Amino acid sequence: MSPASIQVPDALVARMSDAAEDAYPEECCGLLIGRRQETGDFTVTEAVPSPNVAGGDHADSFEVSPQLRFNLMRRLGDGPEQIIGHYHSHPGHPGEPSARDLEMAFEPDMVWLIIAVENGLAQPPRAHIVDTDTAGQAGGFREIELHASPQPTP
Ligand SMILES: [Zn+2]
Repeated sequence: MSPASIQVPDALVARMSDAAEDAYPEECCGLLIGRRQETGDFTVTEAVPSPNVAGGDHADSFEVSPQLRFNLMRRLGDGPEQIIGHYHSHPGHPGEPSARDLEMAFEPDMVWLIIAVENGLAQPPRAHIVDTDTAGQAGGFREIELHASPQPTP
């Protein structure tokens, strides 16, 4: 079953875009919480900002705080909502996964939402998913449709 799209409430797109502009010229990042529908489509219900804890230059790298992720997983438990992916910004680069992103894409079925920031202005977000091959290994990115929705879907 291959996911075709991801739905993100307008308000969350606005919040992540603001964070991307605030962090410029560095990368912002955070986690996406939501559900995966039976159709394979994703619905985002929450975007949780994280400090960028990458060891390298934050202009072209990011890392979500492991502690934040751990705390979130504990909070969500086995409820219907789970961490379905993360977001980060690309200051001065297109909203496509970078070579570095590809190296980090070892978790299958995670959504990568990327917000390009050009001259300090956030561009519309784009979403990619880590594809898996028949052996279940992560095998690169595939772009999926992103729909901004006026209301969170119940
Ligand atoms: Zn990136």
